[in-house]
Amino acid sequence: SKTADRDNSGKYLFGESDFKNSGLAQTDWAAKKQVWIPSEKEGFEVVSIKEETGDDVLVELDNGSQKTIRKDEIQKVNPPKFSKVEDMAALTFLNEASVLHNLKERYFSGLIYTYSGLFCVVVNPYKMLPIYSEKIIEMYKGKKRHEVPPHIYSITDNAYRNMMQEHDDQSILCTGESGAGKTENTKKVIQYLAVVASSHKSKKDAVSGELEKQLLQANPILEAFGNAKTIKNDNSSRFGKFIRLNFDITGYLVGATIDTYLLEKSRCVRQAKVERSFHIFYYVVAGAKDKMREELLLEGFNSYSFLSAGHVQVPGTEDDEMFTETLGAMEVLGFIEDERIGMLKVVSTVLQLGNIEFKKDKNQEQATIPDNTAAQKVCHLQGINVTDFTRAILTPRIKVGREVVQKAQTKEQADFAIEALAKTMYDRLFRWILTRVNKVLDKSKRQSVSFIGILDIAGFEIFEDNSFEQLCINYTNEKLQQLFNHTMFVLEQEEYKREGIEWNFIDFGLDLQPCIDLIERQNNPPGILSLLDEQCWFPKATDVSFVDKLLNTHSSHCKFTKPKQHKEKTMFSVLHYAGKVDYNATGWLTKNMDPLNDNVTALLSNSSSAFIQDLWKDTDHVVGLEQMTKMSESSVASSSKSKKGMFRTVGQLYKESLGKLMTTLHHTTPNFVRCIIPNHEKRAGKMEAHLVLEQLRCNGVLEGIRICRQGFPNRVVFQEFRQRYEILAAGAIPKGFMDGKQASTVMIKHLDLDPNLYRIGQSKIFFRTGVLAQLEEERDLKL
Ligand code: ADP
Ligand code: MG
Repeated sequence: SKTADRDNSGKYLFGESDFKNSGLAQTDWAAKKQVWIPSEKEGFEVVSIKEETGDDVLVELDNGSQKTIRKDEIQKVNPPKFSKVEDMAALTFLNEASVLHNLKERYFSGLIYTYSGLFCVVVNPYKMLPIYSEKIIEMYKGKKRHEVPPHIYSITDNAYRNMMQEHDDQSILCTGESGAGKTENTKKVIQYLAVVASSHKSKKDAVSGELEKQLLQANPILEAFGNAKTIKNDNSSRFGKFIRLNFDITGYLVGATIDTYLLEKSRCVRQAKVERSFHIFYYVVAGAKDKMREELLLEGFNSYSFLSAGHVQVPGTEDDEMFTETLGAMEVLGFIEDERIGMLKVVSTVLQLGNIEFKKDKNQEQATIPDNTAAQKVCHLQGINVTDFTRAILTPRIKVGREVVQKAQTKEQADFAIEALAKTMYDRLFRWILTRVNKVLDKSKRQSVSFIGILDIAGFEIFEDNSFEQLCINYTNEKLQQLFNHTMFVLEQEEYKREGIEWNFIDFGLDLQPCIDLIERQNNPPGILSLLDEQCWFPKATDVSFVDKLLNTHSSHCKFTKPKQHKEKTMFSVLHYAGKVDYNATGWLTKNMDPLNDNVTALLSNSSSAFIQDLWKDTDHVVGLEQMTKMSESSVASSSKSKKGMFRTVGQLYKESLGKLMTTLHHTTPNFVRCIIPNHEKRAGKMEAHLVLEQLRCNGVLEGIRICRQGFPNRVVFQEFRQRYEILAAGAIPKGFMDGKQASTVMIKHLDLDPNLYRIGQSKIFFRTGVLAQLEEERDLKL
């Protein structure tokens, strides 16, 4: 049974002792015939039924007033026995109102983790809770899920034990909207495993092994380069990641690898109001001193046009201190001086690129650089020749048909080229860091026999304006939801089989296939990504012609529509499982091609700096200038057709890496963690009902419940069933010994329930939703 010393932490794990089983609350519930009705402010409110007439119900509100409401708008209130349940699948009335209520009650008692069947739901507390200490880790070690309060540690421990016992690879999938707590929980998983699976045991310091230290220090580096302050989150990860922790046969941690998805590289050239660029830009400008500052050619915050708002601060952190910390983390990972300086030079270069200003030449439309100071600095930092560089930008050599010509660029083209260069340069730096970190963490591949993968990726996004990035993330979430539905199907079937119950569960994963096909299908008919690729190779294509093509191909697809009321010719809608999303395809051809000035990349790959050379060594799939020219003036016929196959579009690359991820996940036992943001003010102790409900819908928790309801969601082991409800079958069970199953069977016969409402298994009885409430009510009448 659950025993833990009740210090302060106990309150945040077990809750205060409450009156859930008090007879008073129970009779109150039964007498008042309480139900939930929709409420504008609270999501739902409790009222009591006064009268029922046909499809209408007369109810009395808390303030004494009465109103009539349609029967299908009310949801049943669960008996008090179920108050603050740790697993919401146990609720006898499985409905939205009860789920929200339960989460809310737990949240306000400081209980942020709750299970909902296969899901672990966690609400961001926005304050430090004393539930992540080493003592708590000890408490969760080796405990089964039902033996301890819900916690990310329990999920992690169970995954770990399962991996050890069943030799099954595991995955822990954290999703949620920005600021919901994905990354914090991911860190807790790693923290837990670094302690529990460390091969270097020492009494004083639980995390003392080199690998464990490096693993924990990899994070600050990734965050410095990949995180930024946004409206929603002061430390928002602007990329998705999958961390794979590898274990040897004895369960010791022997290595790790990190994969990342879609860094939001556009952030380094432009940020929304009150947001920041990636942290490292501020760290280095605020923190680099003396010799290093000179070497990096750094200037003040206000002289960089790529940091348009200057030195935006993050409350509670000092950028110069963070710079020291980041350098420290690099040292732990063994980055040598040349590497550290090389990385920071790229950071400084990106900033400097933004300061290159082009003017229009008077007579022609040609770009010029009146003052090349910034360009000189860029070239100094990158180890390339400034004359070559300006020529590559202003008058690059371009292949037209079979000939190579020098073509003067307009100011717009030059500006575009510089921004594209800055973004790609930063993206390549990020990937270089990742490869470098992986080299350190993944040193003992041979010993590794199994792994736990942790996915930290954005959940469903439905914004005002949805672009290519949203399509990619929503596509990912369709696939993850499909994995969830399928897992649920498999596990339920297994449980029914194990318990010898006849029941055909439906695989709702199949429901998601049409939408997934609409996005990813290669052919017959080609899906959205394929059609986008096709258009990218078609010389005269535009974003509008792409959407036209979509409309022609998919007009009758059940998951595709053209939004009404939209005059823009670039709009189309997809019916995702989480809802309809209107996409705006403006700029998608360019986003998908991601063209780059290949004259400049050629220079960079021949830089005098070994670091820069390394960064640009594979430029095979750079989409070159011909394409760029095509994008900006679409009249120039290009030789793009012949280039097909040489490089890959962003969509293709994404689809491929998602495919790999899904293959990996399908070979694991998945554990689903759903992070919920309680309000958009980063405030502790405040929960906005409608915001939470919307997330529960998008993240599949409500969908999981819907699926659950198709089967027999409530399960009670014989012993417990007998104990609680024997009173309802008084006299039916003879005195003396009777085995649990037999007794339960006798009891259930005596209760005269409709046979479709229950199933008797090997160790427990299965009930349809709501049946237990009925038994509770009858029990009340007897007490
Ligand atoms: P996401 O990765 O989902 O965008 P984060 O994990 O970065 O969100 O969380 C955003 C912020 O919320 C964190 O910086 C932290 O301040 C707070 N937070 C999230 N989870 C917790 C938690 N379990 N305990 C305390 N604070 C948390
Ligand atoms: Mg994050």
